[in-house]
Amino acid sequence: MIQSLKYKLQSLITLSCLLCRDACQWPDRLCRGCIDSLPRIQHACMLCSEPLPHRDDGHLCGTCQKQGRTFDSCTSAFLYQPPVSDMLQRLKYHDQLAFAHPLASLLANTLQTHYRAEPLPEVILPIPLHRTRLLQRGYNQSTVLARHLSRHMMIPTDHRLLKRERATQPQLALTTHQRRQNVRGTFTCKTPGYHHVALLDDIVTTGATVEELSRLLKRHGVKHVDIWCVARTPPG
Ligand SMILES: [Zn+2]
Ligand SMILES: [Zn+2]
Repeated sequence: MIQSLKYKLQSLITLSCLLCRDACQWPDRLCRGCIDSLPRIQHACMLCSEPLPHRDDGHLCGTCQKQGRTFDSCTSAFLYQPPVSDMLQRLKYHDQLAFAHPLASLLANTLQTHYRAEPLPEVILPIPLHRTRLLQRGYNQSTVLARHLSRHMMIPTDHRLLKRERATQPQLALTTHQRRQNVRGTFTCKTPGYHHVALLDDIVTTGATVEELSRLLKRHGVKHVDIWCVARTPPG
């Protein structure tokens, strides 16, 4: 009864698509045409989800082959290309929090496929921002995404477990080696008490940040760390 009322109400509420302004139905905030045109990853490394040029089941990217990873899996909904890159920039730097809902909901669709035969993590851990950045920006985009994702995946979020102790330089202009140096020792962690966690970031580039956090969590007794991200950058 309540469910059918909910669907009836949904069909009555028409909103405009955040990207093209065409009509779309609540709660999506993106129209079907725009959702279908978002850049999906065709072929990816089976461990870190780095986009690969060819389909090759069971294939690992160069980094995963050479060094392995501290995390156990990585799931990304999209390639970091327009319009997903614009949506994430607007969410992160221009207070356009309305983008969090469709991005989290689309990531949830990808995750539901990924975890069809696998156990879900117990908790979502958003990548923390340093206190200074949090004050400047007013919110942490990963925490905002995590709140939406929590509802879709029915898993709680813990945004107090991890802490960023110093503000790092933006990773964008750094090489892979510099990125690793840049994030080393940046985070601290309370005693987790979890066995299996999902670390949530908006974008994963080389994976230096999520690797550092996975290493830290595993040192504190976490057995299984999965990475969830909205977008993965194409290989540079
Ligand atoms: Zn649209
Ligand atoms: Zn890889």
